[in-house]
Amino acid sequence: MADDTKVAVLGTGIMGSAMARNLLSAGMDVRAWNRSREKAEPLVKDGAEVADNPADAARGADFILTMLADADAVEEAVGGDVLSELAEDGVWLQMSTVGEGGTERLHRLAADRGVAYVDAPVLGTKQPAEQGQLIVLASGPEEVRERSEQVFDALGSKTVWLDEAGEGSRLKLVVNNWIVGLLGVLAETVAFAEATGVDPAKFLETIEGGPLGLPYAQLKGSMMIEENFPTSFSANLARKDAALVLDSARDHDLHLRIAEAVTTLFDEAIQAGHGEDDMAAVYRAASPDRG
Ligand code: NAP
Repeated sequence: MADDTKVAVLGTGIMGSAMARNLLSAGMDVRAWNRSREKAEPLVKDGAEVADNPADAARGADFILTMLADADAVEEAVGGDVLSELAEDGVWLQMSTVGEGGTERLHRLAADRGVAYVDAPVLGTKQPAEQGQLIVLASGPEEVRERSEQVFDALGSKTVWLDEAGEGSRLKLVVNNWIVGLLGVLAETVAFAEATGVDPAKFLETIEGGPLGLPYAQLKGSMMIEENFPTSFSANLARKDAALVLDSARDHDLHLRIAEAVTTLFDEAIQAGHGEDDMAAVYRAASPDRG
């Protein structure tokens, strides 16, 4: 079955290119498109075709998989008549993080074109994407779930099915609020340790292995201590995610003060030139040097 499956992958950034490689390894045909074509070209040696535009990528495909920065980028790529290029009964797997409003907008676009829409944002970053270990938070019509799972199985270790399209994105926002809060307090804790003459490595060592010692704290905390921020998830996109959380909270009459404060830290780090660095560079805004 996978041998005949054709997937149009729109967006071959950090996540999309790793995902495209895993689809190819699972025996699927991949036609990839990326706004900056040079980021899609390396996939050719893995067996992908590179398309000049989204419509060419989508032509005759069973699935269109979008993994772009935000809802505007997805709408720009998939708008026009791109969805009509899919094979009969083709399915749109929308895996970018676009929030509640973005999901509604894109779902409407799919409905206008009569294409089944599966809302399927992911948990996991660059390395899990490369290893096919993402967690897919999927929601959408019952009748396309089994078919969609062959794609998700190639990308992740687990697919959590929720009900109607949009529920996956809402769960993703909840997890993102947790991540944003953790990252902000981690940055300030490392800065606080340094300010008080405590070796921040001792802090990480002390919590390691116990209930407070999240592997995430070890990973991002070490980056902060070493001030080395190779990008798994950019500060720009983390700031976008924090804003999506705040938008959604506002729409539901909830004031999230911690997410708001961390968003300010992101803004400062981005203004200082760290937008394309890993999100752990938020530490630069929290540390006394404010580098
Ligand atoms: P990335 O490496 O920065 O790639 C972003 C992609 O979006 C690139 O293909 C970029 O094209 C494209 N893009 C941006 N603006 C565009 C526009 N206006 N029109 C067309 N294309 C546009 O990002 P990523 O880390 O792969 O993230 C992709 C999505 O996955 C995001 O929604 C992100 O929030 C989500 N996500 C990321 C992670 C992670 O850890 N990295 C984890 C979970 C979810 P160019 O190459 O031409 O700039």
